[in-house]
Amino acid sequence: MELALQPLNISGIEDKRPIVISGPCSAETEEQVMSTARNLAAEGIKIFRAGIWKPRTKPGGFEGIGEKGLAWMQEVKQETGMLTTTEVATAKHVELALKAGIDILWIGARTTANPFAVQEVADSLRGVDIPVFVKNPVNPDLELWIGAMERLNAAGIKRIAAIHRGFTAYEKVIYRNLPMWHIPIELMRRIPDLPIFCDPSHMGGRRELVAPLSQQAMDLGFYGLMIESHCEPDKAWSDAKQQITPDVLSFILDKLIIRNTSEATESLRALRKQIDALDDKIIEVLSKRMRISREIAEYKKEHNMAVVQPGRYDEIISKRGAQGILCGMSSDFMRSVFESIHEESVRQQIELINK
Ligand code: PEP
Ligand code: MN
Repeated sequence: MELALQPLNISGIEDKRPIVISGPCSAETEEQVMSTARNLAAEGIKIFRAGIWKPRTKPGGFEGIGEKGLAWMQEVKQETGMLTTTEVATAKHVELALKAGIDILWIGARTTANPFAVQEVADSLRGVDIPVFVKNPVNPDLELWIGAMERLNAAGIKRIAAIHRGFTAYEKVIYRNLPMWHIPIELMRRIPDLPIFCDPSHMGGRRELVAPLSQQAMDLGFYGLMIESHCEPDKAWSDAKQQITPDVLSFILDKLIIRNTSEATESLRALRKQIDALDDKIIEVLSKRMRISREIAEYKKEHNMAVVQPGRYDEIISKRGAQGILCGMSSDFMRSVFESIHEESVRQQIELINK
């Protein structure tokens, strides 16, 4: 299904990269919301985020302030003129958020992973014209991500954006959620007019990673950033380690280098350099392999042996096929790579034997 999209057209926001959304992980108290919002507005931030209902991994933690926080969002809007956005996961959330005049809704990573929940949200939005931002599902499944956007689109939502916040990793890695940049890059290729934000806060899970991840997202041509900020990050009731003050946010944004997206960017150039270096190595290794193969040909010639020994050939193909699967490559691909290598090897051996 093709997505029928319209420009986000978020009133009052000029279309200049990056469009920044910021605010606390969770709305906690009126004071915390207002103080963070005032500081953000003073730094020129135009879209304020705060989680009102929080999906927590384990029960018993802070699960969001709930409905009463919506009144604080209204206050933010009235006092600072910022647009407001919050996460919705059920029809009830949608109803309450719309009633409170929330300007943009977002669907969280855990919700995107659940088609029943996405469908419920989509159905509750029929006939409503509001931008909806869709975070990637927690698992690295591009089709599930696109599917969630299709559900919204089929319900009449035309102003859609994606938010890349990384994917769950089982092993401990430096990121809280793996960036796996190739997935949003493939999303850009599949749906070129879809604006994509990056959420370096949930991706990195640590303050120090907000700046480098934001820069990387900009280098890859992302449209905007969603960054968690808090007037007193260390005291945050959720995601304390990854939140930054509005002041630090402003410092990070000032330092970002925004390049023209149509040019190959620094990151891309660096990645291509790595590919070139690996290709050099591949050729070097192949040529070494061919040299050894010619030595084998000398041996076969001396001992009057046939060039192709089918048993050995089968062994190579089946062993490498299985190994390729373990390394995330298809066995067909491995087979064709090793068939080509073997073919060239045989060609060189025959040439040598017939000399
Ligand atoms: C959030 O934005 O606070 C949040 C819960 O994010 P995610 O859905 O990406 O985990
Ligand atoms: Mn959070």
